Amino acid sequence: MDENILKHLRAWFKKNAATLPWRPAELDTPRNPYAVWISETMLQQTQVSTVKDYFVRWMERFPDVETLAKASEEEVFKYWQGLGYYSRARNILKAARIIAENAGMPNTRKELESLPGIGAYTAGAILSLAFHKREAILDGNLVRIFSRFYALNFLPDGKAAETYWDYARNVADSPKAYMHNEALMELGRTVCKSKTPNCTSCPLAIGCRAYHEGRAEEFPPKRTRIQKDWHGTALVIESADGKILAVSDGQAFLRGQLALPHFETQRNATAGIPQQAERYIDSDKVASVEDCGSFKHGITVHKIECRVQHIKLKYKAAGRFTWVSKDAAKDVFANSFSLKALKLALS
Ligand code: SF4
Repeated sequence: MDENILKHLRAWFKKNAATLPWRPAELDTPRNPYAVWISETMLQQTQVSTVKDYFVRWMERFPDVETLAKASEEEVFKYWQGLGYYSRARNILKAARIIAENAGMPNTRKELESLPGIGAYTAGAILSLAFHKREAILDGNLVRIFSRFYALNFLPDGKAAETYWDYARNVADSPKAYMHNEALMELGRTVCKSKTPNCTSCPLAIGCRAYHEGRAEEFPPKRTRIQKDWHGTALVIESADGKILAVSDGQAFLRGQLALPHFETQRNATAGIPQQAERYIDSDKVASVEDCGSFKHGITVHKIECRVQHIKLKYKAAGRFTWVSKDAAKDVFANSFSLKALKLALS
């Protein structure tokens, strides 16, 4: 994008930037790197409107990285409860402890990307928004904008990702990189939306190829999805003190999320506890096993058919696992796969 287009983009952003708890009124003010890290991590897979309150509560309780580093995982989960993808919260805590032990928040891409949970996008956001470095970001919003602006009829997969990163580096190669990056994120969220791009209000329209060809909705190309069948078993494991076991080592379609233990099993698996359950429980100390029926579900390309077992243990919640009370379970399991299984077992 040339300087003329970027000038339009900056002017648009100054006029239209939304008021957000992590955004100072003065857009040129360098941000607090800790706040950028937390807000950008919360915003992954989550709507801005949802994140606002979570961010405010989080910053009140954990105003800096040192305070966060001293918190327990249990408390951090409490402040994350409802945002889903608990691996993000776990990684934030791990990274905070590393940062607190070292000399504070790193300011190079290499150091940032070596921390748990910080990838190329978050590192670029911290470096540009907080340290005003000429560092690029690339997320779904920017991919959509670049695909349309340059009429790119391919997705950023494999080597093709470099083409998209080159365009991202092009807009970041400026003392105003922080503003270009943030303006593009906002533009993707509010104007260049996936289903209904509002081209007539867009500051990039003068140079946008897809718009001039009347083909904005055709970009980026749709991903072809091959449906996969998945047959398995989900376990509602209840301790003697009424807690439910939650794990984060489940199938790829639930990666990073706290979920009920679940395994791929034969479609017509016979009754009895699946052998894989032994990684979580002492099978000699099972009080009862109940087959609760099965449910059908769809996640991304997976067509799921899952039977549910309710296993009651003779011993109390203990060990290296996460146990949650039945009341908290609905919030902790932010995926409908686990919620459907819970409902079958507990209602
Ligand atoms: S002109 Fe339309 S398609 Fe092009 S970047 Fe703007 S909103 Fe997106």
